[in-house]
Amino acid sequence: MTDSTSSSRARQTRIVHADPHLEPGFESFVTPVMRASTVVFPDLATVRAGDWRDDSQWRYGLHATPTSAALAQRIAAIEGGKQALLQPSGLSAISNVYFGIVKTGDDVLIPDNVYSPNREHGEWLAHDFGISVRYYDPLVGGGIADLIRPNTRLIWIESPGSVTMEVPDVRAIVAAARERHVVTAIDNTYSAGLAFRPLELGVDISVQAMTKYQSGGSDVLMGATITIDHELHLKLKRARMRMGIGVSVDDCSLVLRSLPSMKARFEAHDRTALGLARWLKARPEIAAVLHPALPDCPGHAEFMRDFTGAGGLFSVIFDERYSHAQIDAFVEALELFAIGWSWGGAYSLAMPYDVVSMRTASRWPHRGILVRFYTGLEDEADLRADIERAMKSALG
Ligand SMILES: *Cc1c(COP(=O)(O)O)cnc(C)c1O
Repeated sequence: MTDSTSSSRARQTRIVHADPHLEPGFESFVTPVMRASTVVFPDLATVRAGDWRDDSQWRYGLHATPTSAALAQRIAAIEGGKQALLQPSGLSAISNVYFGIVKTGDDVLIPDNVYSPNREHGEWLAHDFGISVRYYDPLVGGGIADLIRPNTRLIWIESPGSVTMEVPDVRAIVAAARERHVVTAIDNTYSAGLAFRPLELGVDISVQAMTKYQSGGSDVLMGATITIDHELHLKLKRARMRMGIGVSVDDCSLVLRSLPSMKARFEAHDRTALGLARWLKARPEIAAVLHPALPDCPGHAEFMRDFTGAGGLFSVIFDERYSHAQIDAFVEALELFAIGWSWGGAYSLAMPYDVVSMRTASRWPHRGILVRFYTGLEDEADLRADIERAMKSALG
């Protein structure tokens, strides 16, 4: 039976309309989780004065709350950007760049070693949306100028390619693009924005898969587009609004928790990866080590010029005498390296790739099989022993 006395009705309304504001005088290090779908306005004049271009206005929970805005500001600041738009995944940030910049009839240039789902996105636009998509050799450098057409709108850069590790000459590509007024967007996930600051070299948009080092927990998916230019930011912001994209403030809170330790983690991953890469280079099973800080890696000179560190990701090419079955057995024999894609967390990973099937515009020079390693936060000597044991059991 419903209690409908007037005092009960008043109690119910008071519960609904209880003042949500916390008492002042409480402080902690934590950015509060401010959750909202509905944003409430003080009066109608404020509603009518609303302008989606103004990042300081609160309009709708999907677009921003103080929690997500705090994270966006920090992500932008890490790599010298003025503003960032948070996205539900790294791939969603890539998609936002396409839909914010490119229209039917435009031409897009993509490096041949690009993150595979970016290539897949480009193929979709080419097939269904009347956009021309072409691939270039990641080591093209200033030669990109010869590929730019009058309708070229966007040039993607990835540095280094996250499987094959070539480091492009970003300065040369940007110089050619600027001369022809073509927008450049870089997938800067590898450096987390800590070890490489492409916006300062004139790249227009930096994309981060915050799923990786920014999260650091192997549990949150998030991405960002970071810009200096405000007009460009607004183009991306409008596309993001039109697509109805936003992020969960709970996820923001998890990333905010991880962010202060990111630099220390990145440096630890970097030390372990470089130690393992040097050790692997001397092993008889390995034909080449693709780590940008080592001279074997194409683009090593550009890496030394532009980067201050490398993080935990690198690849090796096994000697061509080993079969696919043997390399698969090696990867499966590893105990501390899990089989998985999404790096950036505390756990080491290994994955074989068939590079030839991933390329269309450049020749892959290696005959042996590529395995990508990600070094987590385990002890380096234990990781080395694990690899040595797996080599012995699978490769003889
Ligand atoms: C992981 C990754 C992405 C995509 O991030 P998601 O959050 O998994 O969508 C994009 N680019 C690179 C280089 C990545 O490693």
